[in-house]
Formats: sequence, C-alpha cells, structure tokens
Amino acid sequence: MPELSPRSEALQPGSTIGILGGGQLGRMLAVAAAKLGFKTHIYCDEPSCPAFDVSAAHTVGDYTDIERLMAFGAAVDVVTYEFENVPVEAAQHLCGLVPVRPGPRALEFAQDRLVEKRFISELGVSVAPFAPVDGTGDLVAALRLFSAPAILKTRRLGYDGKGQVSVSPGDDPDIALAAIGNAPAILEQRVAFACEVSVLVVRGIDGEIDFYDIAQNTHADGILRHSVVPSPLNEAEAGLARGMARRIAEALDYVGVLAVEMFYLGAAAEQPLMVNEIAPRVHNSGHWTMDGCSVSQFENHIRAVVGWPLGSTARHSDAEMTNLIGKDVRSWPEIAADPDALLHLYGKRDPRDGRKMGHVNRLRPKSGAR
Ligand code: AMP
Repeated sequence: MPELSPRSEALQPGSTIGILGGGQLGRMLAVAAAKLGFKTHIYCDEPSCPAFDVSAAHTVGDYTDIERLMAFGAAVDVVTYEFENVPVEAAQHLCGLVPVRPGPRALEFAQDRLVEKRFISELGVSVAPFAPVDGTGDLVAALRLFSAPAILKTRRLGYDGKGQVSVSPGDDPDIALAAIGNAPAILEQRVAFACEVSVLVVRGIDGEIDFYDIAQNTHADGILRHSVVPSPLNEAEAGLARGMARRIAEALDYVGVLAVEMFYLGAAAEQPLMVNEIAPRVHNSGHWTMDGCSVSQFENHIRAVVGWPLGSTARHSDAEMTNLIGKDVRSWPEIAADPDALLHLYGKRDPRDGRKMGHVNRLRPKSGAR
C-alpha cells in the first residue's frame, strides 16, 4: 500500500470530496467546498453529525468497517479528514482506491505523542524534553531527569487536555499512572511558556506552501477559549516559527492545512519556540481566518486537496476568536444583535459542558502582520 497518494490533475467543480469525520470542522469544510462548486460526502460513526446538515451525501459507519469505507471511497473523487484519530489502516485502504490528502503518514505521526515528538525532534525542530513511560520504573527514571514538575500524557487519544496529569518528583508514580488509566505514555517537562501560539501552514499538491499569520491561543481547562492575531511574536520569531512548521510539512510531503501548536518561551529564552503538537487538519485556532482573511483555512484546505492553486492567506484585519463552549451558546441572541460580532454556530443540540457549540469572531483594523 503506498504511503502517499499519487498526484493527479486538479479536480473539476462538481466533483465530490469525501470527508472522514462529521464534526464542526467537517461542516465548515463542506461549506467551503460548496463555495467552490464541490459536493461533499461525509463519513462518520455517529448517526447525527453537524456536517450532515450541509453535505450532499453521508455514510454512517465505523472507521474500522473496511467494506463500508471502500464503498464511500468508490463514491468520491478525493478523501480528506477532519480529525486525526481516523485509523491509519482505514486511510491506507482508501489510498488504493482514491487520493487521500493529507496522506496516512501524517495521521500516523499525529496519533502517537511519542512517535510525533521523535519525528519532530529528529527534524531538528525543538520540542519540550520528553521520555517514554511504559510503567512505574520508566516514570521514576524519567522524573529524575526532569528537575521540575512534569506532565504525564497518554501516547494516544489525548485531546483538549484529556489523558494528562501533572506529576512532580516525590509524587507516587503508581497514582499518576492510574490517573491516565495505566496507558502507554510520555513524560514531558513542564515548559514555563510566555504564551501558546499556532502556525497554520497550507501546502498544495505541487509543494506550493503558505502560512496564515500566527495566532496566540488561550486555553482553560485544557480547551481552547481564544485565538488572537497578531501574536506577540516579533518578525524574527515569526520567521523561526514558520520555518519550523515548514520543515514538518515538507518532511510529511503534506497536502492541506496543518496546524503546528507551539510554546513561546519569550524573547530572552535560548529556545524561544518549542512545538507542542501537530494536528493534520484544519484547526480551531484558525477559525479567525473565516472573517479575518479573504480565503479561510477551510477554503485553502479544500483548494489544496483538490489540487487547485492555493488562495491568499493575507489577513485584512486584527481578529479575536472566542469559542462558545457548552452553555455559552445560550448567549447567541445577544451576540447576533451585536453588529461587531461575527457568529458561527455548529447546529449541535445538546450544550454539554466542554462541548464546542460555535465561535464568535471580532475584527479590528489591522495593526501589523506576523
Ligand atoms: P496538549 O493536549 O498536549 O495540547 O496539552 C493541552 C494543554 O496543556 C496545552 O495547550 C498547554 O496549555 C498545556 N501543556 C501541555 N504540555 C505542556 C508542557 N510540556 N508544559 C506546559 N504546559 C503544557
């Protein structure tokens, strides 16, 4: 099975883009695809998904149901995905039938924090010091390596701060391991960052590459709350961050939008930037591009995966994106009445705690490009 799909000609408007995953990212991808005259077919393992409302076709099926996946693959002209936990085998099977962009290698790296961190550091890109942890002995040894508090993270299926626990030298290692379900893990040094930023890079099938201005991200309870552009990075730091993201995208022969989340340690730090993680897809920290740029991250991802030239990533305004999480969404009437607020709702019914229900963008005149 080839690791990367063969390159082909640009798809014609009217072609169908298959999207694995039916959440809000799939929904916003489908809307962007429709803008360019494409149809979308969503594959999702849940019977009711935000993306179904805005797509021409959908399949409800498990990501391990190869027969159903292949029928989906046969019905579309290209496959992309909106979340990184699609089984790599599913993407590899589809590769034999239809171009899959980005290719399964990106999934492979993004699904396992240990594999991801090794891959990134082998490229010469800084990451927080880390060590693999497969049991008590490893954790005790790794804690000795790190003088300060560290974070124990499951290798797989951690997102929005889930599957992680803080641990300090002297803590009971078995309690820490039990807190993450005794899953294979890594221990990561806690980084005293000044702020968190993300670089959104978009790469076309011919290797054309571009970047959105870097966003500063604020999290609460492990969930992204705000993204703001411009970030506090100066031009040299922004150039360094883009170079790091470029190295990763090129090493993966990546096609589409790739989000590279980084810690910014401040101008005085020896290493001002360290990569925290990559997401091989459009990303919440790029939602500001829907209103702050002429071509959003969603449209550029679609352009890349169908083999079109990339659209401009130029930003016309300063922007602040605020997520509407859980019951926050109940304030939609006030937001809708605010002429400065640009409201995006995902069509989800149940505003459970921690659930991303929508977001609001607010723009101001542009102050600088970084
Ligand atoms: P992650 O799931 O790895 O993105 O972690 C979620 C959040 O936890 C990050 O956005 C940071 O705010 C925080 N975090 C994760 N790893 C570290 C680290 N090594 N040092 C400091 N904070 C961290």
